[in-house]
Amino acid sequence: MKAVRIHEHGSTDVLRWEEIQKIECPQNKIRVKIKAAALNHLDIWIRNGLPGFSLPLPLIMGSDGAGIITEVGSQINDFKPGDEIVVQPNRFCGQCDACVRGQENYCQQYGILGETENGVQASEVILDPINIYSKPHHLTFEEAASMPLVFLTAYQMIVKRAQLQSGETMLVYGATSGVGSAAIQIGKFLHANVIATVGDNKKVKHAEKMGADLVINHHQEDWYKLLKGKEINVIFEHIGPATWAYSMRLLAKGGRLVTCGATTGPKVEIDLRHLFSKQQSILGSTMSDLNTFREVLDLIHVGHFFPFVDKIFPFSQVIQAHQRMERREQFGKIVLSSNAQDLTYNV
Ligand SMILES: [Zn+2]
Repeated sequence: MKAVRIHEHGSTDVLRWEEIQKIECPQNKIRVKIKAAALNHLDIWIRNGLPGFSLPLPLIMGSDGAGIITEVGSQINDFKPGDEIVVQPNRFCGQCDACVRGQENYCQQYGILGETENGVQASEVILDPINIYSKPHHLTFEEAASMPLVFLTAYQMIVKRAQLQSGETMLVYGATSGVGSAAIQIGKFLHANVIATVGDNKKVKHAEKMGADLVINHHQEDWYKLLKGKEINVIFEHIGPATWAYSMRLLAKGGRLVTCGATTGPKVEIDLRHLFSKQQSILGSTMSDLNTFREVLDLIHVGHFFPFVDKIFPFSQVIQAHQRMERREQFGKIVLSSNAQDLTYNV
């Protein structure tokens, strides 16, 4: 069997599609033949290394995957060989107070497949049943693999943390990023007014296809002026210093800024006078609890949310796939597939 592994942190050169030893399937685990695995921005952070955070190396990359069960351990009753599945990427102990409360992403032992332990960018993987759910029938393996991490992240941010209400306005930065595209769809599902920003006029169409009511190029000089004066109730942040000061100024009274990332750096300033006088909230969010994952997957199953696959690469071209993501060339999700023949389609 083969896997995308890193043995050290660094540039795309450290990515290897290499032969690894096949292991036995324990009684309480499930073997899955992976048909497709999506890339996330998290993969770049992990490949580069996280300051002050030691990851197990060598590490199989990848948090998002879909495939077919080929073997189940003797203690497994809920799944059988032949089942088509999608991977749930959160890892947690299932026994601590946070897990018992249903807040698995607050677990002391919380981790993510492809970060704190081996991931799913491999020809086959052995998984815990908590990481396995039925694949939506109407989606291809590539489409199914592209959705879980970004949708569970965006859903947790918007629904559970910021509690966006029908009729409110949400500003989403980076409409062609995975979480940005998912956020637009979730905002429209909640009957909110969604304003999205893009960094390139070529990306406007993608944002409109996701459902954005208004799309603004944030490289245009007057983008901030266009938004000033609008009542923006929720700001969906994952950018950091490049947008933070504008966000704080644009956020309405009682507004909520929710963030899951810091792609332009970790440090920002906050004017406390604005924060308390406008009664605003700043909310952090990471991944999701299991109920959120189930909720969002149910909505994917019935077609409320749709996939936005950008380009499909064979696993052997994982370096090219990372390069495309690092250059921000993609319009949606980049997926590795066992069936890929350099097939490209844009939504
Ligand atoms: Zn726990």
